[in-house]
Amino acid sequence: MASQRITEISVTPIPAYFPHEIGRNAFRWSPGTTGVEWLVRARTEGGLEALGNAMRHLWVDGDGSVESLVRLLREVLLGRRVDEFLHVSCGRVVGPTREANRVFRNHPWMSVLAYDLTARELGVSCIELLGGKKRDRVDAYDTTLYFDDLRVPEKGVGQVVEEAGDALKAGYRQMKMKTGRGGRWMAPEAGMRRDVEVVQAVRELAGPDVKIMVDANFGYDGRLDLLEDFIRETLPADVFWLEEMVKADLDAYRSIRRIQERLGSTALLVCGEVDEDYPMGDVYRDLVEGRLIDGYQPDIVWHGYVRWNEIQRLLEGAGVRCVPHCFHNGNYGRRASLIWGAASESFVSIEDERIAPNVYRQDAFTFENGSYAVADAHGLGLEVDEEIFQSRYASNEVKISV
Ligand SMILES: [Mg+2]
Repeated sequence: MASQRITEISVTPIPAYFPHEIGRNAFRWSPGTTGVEWLVRARTEGGLEALGNAMRHLWVDGDGSVESLVRLLREVLLGRRVDEFLHVSCGRVVGPTREANRVFRNHPWMSVLAYDLTARELGVSCIELLGGKKRDRVDAYDTTLYFDDLRVPEKGVGQVVEEAGDALKAGYRQMKMKTGRGGRWMAPEAGMRRDVEVVQAVRELAGPDVKIMVDANFGYDGRLDLLEDFIRETLPADVFWLEEMVKADLDAYRSIRRIQERLGSTALLVCGEVDEDYPMGDVYRDLVEGRLIDGYQPDIVWHGYVRWNEIQRLLEGAGVRCVPHCFHNGNYGRRASLIWGAASESFVSIEDERIAPNVYRQDAFTFENGSYAVADAHGLGLEVDEEIFQSRYASNEVKISV
């Protein structure tokens, strides 16, 4: 049977609400209460619909306009047949077509949409195309614990503890908190002390079985002395991973490994969300091959499935795990991460912004006791709730068709 043609595409901004206002991190001011998903709906002549999130195009790749996004979608997708993007053999994607590969190098987020389209046409899950299911449930961590002690100074550390309590009530068994207050917003020594206080207080609340990660967004760069203090002081809190404590640098990471050895810290070192090189920047490749990091984390939507397949091959050889970044990708990103995680041997946990339900139908990928169920569904399994879409968002939809 001939592959279907894509005959209609639309783009719509969809608000994505955080569970609470999000404060600062080590380098930037607060994202506030709301993100945005730039929902792309691609429909075929036969009535299939696949979805994309063009957030990164509006933010990073293009000139930041809906017009340039629509131009790109018209050039790349409209009027094309579904099988023009990915080569499928024995039920698995073996790589992008030559032409699609050129597009995905510049606009890698489009490859997730291509997987969704292809899987829906074949009547299978994207998990099958990615190599098959490796687990029935995928762990997720709350990633909303920012510098909210600074945002609500009258409550201080208590504010972060309150938010951690909400995450626990919602069923999370893993949570990540921002650290590196001394990089910009506080004096270095005092910032380190506050970081320690927050980690200790959250551990006390959460008990011993919850995984705690920390992310400094480079807030300890150039201050390995203070990082050593932080690692020492938080040893009893059993930190699961240390993320981007300093900028990617071989000497710095060798020093951190030595510090960990000295102190007996077994926390994983993870970094790489800022790496934009295809498929992996030189310094990151050195960190991976030298086994100076344990997890690597380019964004799952921004860099897409095609690039992540290449990354995973590089990581596997070195025994480094995939921990894709997913902040600011909304409900779409959470699903893209879940699907990837279900198919990946070395995936650790979904970075979950806990975005409130917005435009998608409730489905069987339900969350319970720290993990999401992997349901049987075509494509990404994500469906737009047409009633909600029409009543709340359709007035902002930009549509093109053949
Ligand atoms: Mg991070």
